[in-house]
Amino acid sequence: MPTMSKLLQDVAAAVRANADELTELDRAIGDGDHGANLRRGFDAVAEIAPELDTMPPGQALQKAGMTLVMKVGGASGPLYGSLLMGIGKSLAGAPAAGAGTPSPSEIADALQAGVEMVRKRGKSDTGDKTMLEVLVPVCGALRDGLSQSLPTPRLLDGLSTAAARGLESTRALQARKGRASFLAERSVGHLDPGARSSQIVVDAACASLRGES
Ligand code: ADP
Ligand code: MG
Repeated sequence: MPTMSKLLQDVAAAVRANADELTELDRAIGDGDHGANLRRGFDAVAEIAPELDTMPPGQALQKAGMTLVMKVGGASGPLYGSLLMGIGKSLAGAPAAGAGTPSPSEIADALQAGVEMVRKRGKSDTGDKTMLEVLVPVCGALRDGLSQSLPTPRLLDGLSTAAARGLESTRALQARKGRASFLAERSVGHLDPGARSSQIVVDAACASLRGES
């Protein structure tokens, strides 16, 4: 298992490497700041990452989430911040996570809690053409994989596949939330920038957990 700081630094590196693509996607159906927003946020998280290793995982993720909320001006900062704070809060209240190593069901419950926070904060759900198009199926794939006791590499492959499918599904959808909703039917035919950034985050976290970076 990577340390929390390694995991978050790997995610930040992936966001940095793909920031221009995120900006391009947001230029098509938004205001072209998604890459810069997320890079600024995750760079700030990477900066405090060594300090996060001194905390239990739940507290560390809550702090990382608060950092995203503070550093990112756009809609996506509070939404990604809510995701990490929701995961962190759930882990902080979980017995095995508190003892240092979260159990599989605690991890699945934590991701679910994080996704619920995004739903609540965004007043949005699947079908609205947002990051939830990726996060919700990834959450389902995690629960399915754990309930089938899949070996970790297969479970992580399942998460990546769910993220890629979820992203692709956004192309046909009309945006109902955020700036892209202003375009109404002209938002159809484009990938959602936040769904693409969520896929990047999920893939980077999976690669880090596989020990690939
Ligand atoms: P802004 O829209 O303020 O410029 P960003 O460009 O950083 O912020 O982020 C845009 C992304 O945020 C969208 O592509 C979408 O995935 C996500 N998003 C926007 N509004 C919502 C919402 N209400 N619920 C969930 N996700 C949203
Ligand atoms: Mg934007």
